[in-house]
Amino acid sequence: MSENERPEPFTYDGEVPPGETRHLRYEVGETYLGDPVEVPITIINGTEAGPNVFLTAAIHGDELNGVKVVQEVADRYDPDDLHGTLVCLHVVNVPGYLAQQRDIPIYDQDINRSFPGKERSNTAERMANKIYCRFVSQCDLGIDFHTSTRNRTTMYHIRADVSNPAVDRLARAFNANVILDGEGEATSLRSVATGDGIPTITVEMGKAHRFQRPLIDKAVEGVNNVLAEYDVLPDESATEAKWHKVLGGEQEKRWLRAETGGLVEMEWGPYPLVHEGDTICTVTDHFKREEHAVTAPFTGIIVGVLENPVALPGHPLCHLARIDRETHAEIETEIERGEFDGYRTLGLGEMADGEQTE
Ligand SMILES: [Zn+2]
Repeated sequence: MSENERPEPFTYDGEVPPGETRHLRYEVGETYLGDPVEVPITIINGTEAGPNVFLTAAIHGDELNGVKVVQEVADRYDPDDLHGTLVCLHVVNVPGYLAQQRDIPIYDQDINRSFPGKERSNTAERMANKIYCRFVSQCDLGIDFHTSTRNRTTMYHIRADVSNPAVDRLARAFNANVILDGEGEATSLRSVATGDGIPTITVEMGKAHRFQRPLIDKAVEGVNNVLAEYDVLPDESATEAKWHKVLGGEQEKRWLRAETGGLVEMEWGPYPLVHEGDTICTVTDHFKREEHAVTAPFTGIIVGVLENPVALPGHPLCHLARIDRETHAEIETEIERGEFDGYRTLGLGEMADGEQTE
């Protein structure tokens, strides 16, 4: 955006003029009772021109850390601060949020597998379509907040298709230690928006059903970094670039699964680095007669772990991403510098199972 460009209203099917903050509830459907289902949205349209940035939380209804991040971001900035517009969708999946569950309670539809949605399709697609057409598609870039699914926890990281230079810029600007590279599910918000030329990243942070303050603080700062990078906050500079690493793509990622049923004891930690052959956890029977150690098949970084301490055969225990020698040395240095402090307790967690991610 050039300096002399004039700020414009943000239009959905209403309009927020430059210099105004609006809190609104936008109807995306109806309940069985015929009452409206309304998404809480804050739009802060800056007094100066600049990019439109969307933030979305609770597309999965029980993933709460992002809800707190969006609440704080929406409260933090005034139109006078911004060259551009912030579009904050506080809770996308309202029915799931009310039930405190991931999917829409009716027929368990996943909104994050329903983008861009259709006007005349199932409930999730209709909701996704309204959100996408009215708000997301009017934006220039976006950040979608998630946590692990319940009973697990995920390491604080970014998911992004870094082969796309515009996404790579956004992912780096957010300034998290770990970026997991990949396109994501074809009908997720991130993939669809990115495919439409709206670079979008997913932030994965911790556990469902919780507010985890240290992670929330990091993410609020991450948003500020992004706004600084894109000159939405022209006077701010991003926090000093951290060490970070892009994992995935060609590198191997694997879910280690339980082979026996029993009680799970995590042995890894306090840092997420494990060496080939290290015991990650053990699974014992109730009589402690049998103990199965689950060991690292290769040297890597733990990106997700089980939290619920009971398992049965096939249950995912730990998500491990392979790292090369150079990365290994870098991570060891960063551990010494304290970059990974608190990862065991805050979760390094899990990311979910196959289709359960994002
Ligand atoms: Zn999610």
